Amino acid sequence: MNQSKAAKTGFAPDFGDMNKEDFRRFGHEFVDWIANYFERIEELPVLAAIEPGDLKAQLPEAPPQHGESMDQILADMNQLIVPALTHWSHPSFFAYFATSTSAPGIFGELLAAAFDNKAMLWRTSPASTELEEVTLDWLRQMMGLDPGMIGIIYDTASVSSMHAIAAAREGVEQRIREEGMSGRPDLPLLRVYVSEHAHSSIEKAVITLGLGQRGLRKIPTDKDFRMNAKALADAIAEDKRDGYLPFCIVATVGTTSTSSIDPVAELVPIGEEHAMWLHVDAAYAGSAAVVPEFRHILDGCRRADSLVVNPHKWLFTPFDLSVLYCRHMDLLRRAFSLVPEYLRTPEQEKVRSGSDYGIQLGRRFRALKLWMVMRYFGHEGLAARIREHCRLARLFASWVDESDDWEILAPVPLALVCFRARPKNHGDLDALNEAIMHGVNSTGRALLSHTRLNDKLTLRLSVGNIRTSEKHVRQVWELLNQQLQSVK
Ligand code: PLP
Repeated sequence: MNQSKAAKTGFAPDFGDMNKEDFRRFGHEFVDWIANYFERIEELPVLAAIEPGDLKAQLPEAPPQHGESMDQILADMNQLIVPALTHWSHPSFFAYFATSTSAPGIFGELLAAAFDNKAMLWRTSPASTELEEVTLDWLRQMMGLDPGMIGIIYDTASVSSMHAIAAAREGVEQRIREEGMSGRPDLPLLRVYVSEHAHSSIEKAVITLGLGQRGLRKIPTDKDFRMNAKALADAIAEDKRDGYLPFCIVATVGTTSTSSIDPVAELVPIGEEHAMWLHVDAAYAGSAAVVPEFRHILDGCRRADSLVVNPHKWLFTPFDLSVLYCRHMDLLRRAFSLVPEYLRTPEQEKVRSGSDYGIQLGRRFRALKLWMVMRYFGHEGLAARIREHCRLARLFASWVDESDDWEILAPVPLALVCFRARPKNHGDLDALNEAIMHGVNSTGRALLSHTRLNDKLTLRLSVGNIRTSEKHVRQVWELLNQQLQSVK
């Protein structure tokens, strides 16, 4: 096919990429498509209304032999892909931790895809490297973290925490990088301490790092689901008596089930007494510290060794972008830097190269979208949105509190409400609440998720989407009450 035919039909030319006329035409069409998507998103079911395998059954088993037209691809996106989406950008998405993208973040992703930089060395992407350093220092200031905390971007909190624990392990000076852990009778059992409400990513990190599940000790929590500092101190003392090597405490600021906040200020002296690394998993709640009146959630964190926060959770930055702040970048570098001859550069001693600080070589230009989000909304704009989410959660919690049919099951420090239906004289409350949740979710008009607290099936309402307003919170409250009436 010649170039002019390709231009008319939207097919790929014989060689090279899409021609520039098509690129403009489809570029505009895709941006219009996204604008229309956001305009009509409330008409779409939040939870994909399909059965497992439905999409696969509609897709060809074999790859296309010849290029297909962009128009056809877009048509299939509408007909096949969109119905198979769960719409995280829907304002009535209240499940898990509600999160959302935003226009400046989308544009940042678009540009990053165009630049397609692999930010492994400073010279392969000076812009990415330096913008990352500056943007993360801005975020550090917004959150009120200590200037000694240096930021680095990874994809997810799971990966950020894994790197933090690897740096902590490097700090125990047991030559683990050089000699590994297996087959070493000289090595004591290394232990990491978390609360029983810590995210599963910490356990996965411990497994990944070869510490084994018995290398993780789960500490009980108090009635508000916060790590019990006394129980932590006792556990460490006991393990030391048994000859173990306690080396890392992971505190959570904003646990996944309830958003409870471990008493970090009480954990700091325990860590210091035993020369242990204190890592803070603030993946969800850390963003709230940009709101001046919520800064107290990071009390004690100024003395932590590392902290993870996910702008892709509550800072309106498209997935993925997680930030690890670390006070000991030298240890992180010692754990991961390996520079073969083909990556050696004349400036390497003077600059930061991202690949020295993790298992990945190539890294995406993620800082661009965060920089654009922070500039477009500004500190005040970001704080205002998070403050509003917290207000909406408190409002919802007040309705629950005032109703005889419902009860709150955990404190609401931020924008997550844990609650359940508890109508008088009803037997199996777990079954009732599960039915209510599935009932609401199957309407397609809102999405909730659940957890288990004190052995009670607990519904979770998380407010975190940039489009969510009071109207949506009122709607889901009505839906919940309708479901309660129909299933009780
Ligand atoms: N830590 C906490 C407290 C979380 O709530 C989550 C996810 O919700 C994670 C870590 C894992 O986040 P990611 O998906 O970025 O790995």
